[in-house]
Amino acid sequence: MSDSFDVIVIGGGPAGYPAAIRAAQNGLSVACIDDWQNYDGSRAFGGTCLNAGCIPSKALLESSELFHRAQEEFGAHGIRTGGVTLDLETMQSRKAGIVKQLTGGIGQLFKANKVTGLQGRGLFLGDGKVEFTDPEGEKKTLSATHVILAAGSRPIELPSMPFDEEQIVDSWRALEFDAVPGKLGVIGAGVIGLELGSVWKRLGAEVTVLEAMDSFLPTADAQIARDAQRQFKKQGMDIRLGAKVQGAKTSKKGVTLSYEDKDGAHELRVDKVIVCVGRRPCSEGLLAEGTGVEVDARGFVAVDEECRTGVERVWAVGDLVRGPMLAHKATEEGVMVADLIAGKIAEVNYEVIPSVIYTAPEIAWVGKTEAQAKEAGIDYKVGTFPFAPNGRAKAMEQAAGMVKLIANKRDDSIIGAHVIGPLAGELISELVVAMEFQASIEDIQRTIHAHPTLAEAIHEAALAADGKAIHGINR
Ligand code: FAD
Ligand code: NAD
Repeated sequence: MSDSFDVIVIGGGPAGYPAAIRAAQNGLSVACIDDWQNYDGSRAFGGTCLNAGCIPSKALLESSELFHRAQEEFGAHGIRTGGVTLDLETMQSRKAGIVKQLTGGIGQLFKANKVTGLQGRGLFLGDGKVEFTDPEGEKKTLSATHVILAAGSRPIELPSMPFDEEQIVDSWRALEFDAVPGKLGVIGAGVIGLELGSVWKRLGAEVTVLEAMDSFLPTADAQIARDAQRQFKKQGMDIRLGAKVQGAKTSKKGVTLSYEDKDGAHELRVDKVIVCVGRRPCSEGLLAEGTGVEVDARGFVAVDEECRTGVERVWAVGDLVRGPMLAHKATEEGVMVADLIAGKIAEVNYEVIPSVIYTAPEIAWVGKTEAQAKEAGIDYKVGTFPFAPNGRAKAMEQAAGMVKLIANKRDDSIIGAHVIGPLAGELISELVVAMEFQASIEDIQRTIHAHPTLAEAIHEAALAADGKAIHGINR
């Protein structure tokens, strides 16, 4: 193996591995260093997303949703199943199989693109030098013209309740439970809290979510967040807002959480607790002294819009830098940097990054919320359309939720799109493309949407923005 490369990427998650592949596609010699290690000691590329995040959580969300629907909804379709029972071991091994296939695929992609994949730790020494430590502790100094830092993030631990891998766990451990907890506490009603809370709720746990903030899903559009909160409540998810958690006492019998809210001090007895109060960048142990790469107070590596650190030919991407901690944002940054290094024109449109929460109902949005449009002083119009009269949603027996479009009245351009309902994460793509192409509400109105599809609700919402919806009340 050569010790010298055009590009060294530190981190093989969805920011790092696509950066390495694109750099190689651009004709550069590339090494990608990654230190991910699974609980069983095996090593795999793919980072948090493939090993402990997006992929395993979606596998369990899908399985648990089917389990729930088989119990609660098949009857409405005239399907009598008798007793539906859970085989969690098979569910977990299906999930593990998907993860293994996808992470294994990265190795093949590296091979096909001639990327040198190195499993072990990377330390940026400065001046184009990277120290690589292999799993046996052997060290080697590699050099590169460009270094891309893509070390990702890890869960934030609350000092009052450190992770114990058994009763107080992070999101990764919570994807690995081998039995359904009777009572599950979830700290944080963010994306992870809602997704993993949903998984274990559907599989039979009694779930209580303690959220410090007084508002529910503050980053989503308020109307959508209200609808979501109502639907989660209906499902029996106990979400307690304004709950400031003080600490946890563990015993053989379970965990006693103490928290305070506006009504005073409370205790909550649960079997297990998932702490999901956000993630922090993995900048510790990534940079040697004096590299000149700036790290802010929260540990994020400081970069500009093009992911350049202040040090020439050193770049940083993904969860390690500012912006939403999302796999697709991480990938776009990695690919952009690989193209910029090759002298190509590339950019990430930070205004048009979709967010999806894969609960049931699914929640997806892109661009501005109504409150943000108001705050920006934009003269806007809104078009909403519920799934209730949508033929496909009815056929699916999933007609809760709505589409909401926000457009600038001045030029009719779409500035925000919000979907809560079946396959919202798939539906939002039409609106992401529309916004990327600076489409107007009229463009969506004039676009033929197949019938009967869920996407017709988007068409109707666009019509509703101008008081022209055919199948609903215009707003
Ligand atoms: P990571 O995926 O964290 O990868 C960084 C890699 O670098 C890791 O393999 C790490 O071991 C390695 N590394 C760190 N330091 C070093 C070093 N010094 N040397 C060598 N290697 C190093 N996002 C979505 O968009 N959609 C989802 O559905 C979604 N679901 C999620 C579910 C869960 C439970 C979690 C926890 C996250 C989820 N995310 C989701 C977020 C998503 O996983 C992250 O935004 C994404 O993984 C960030 O990619 P990254 O490459 O920046 O970092
Ligand atoms: P988050 O930021 O989405 O939510 C954390 C929640 O915890 C917030 O609502 C916060 O107010 C609350 N909180 C913080 N401290 C608390 C405390 N002491 N007590 C009670 N509540 C507290 O973070 P997350 O859910 O941990 O997810 C981490 C990251 O992973 C997010 O940035 C998210 O984008 C990403 N992620 C994305 C997806 C997806 O795209 N579907 C899925 C999972 C995770």
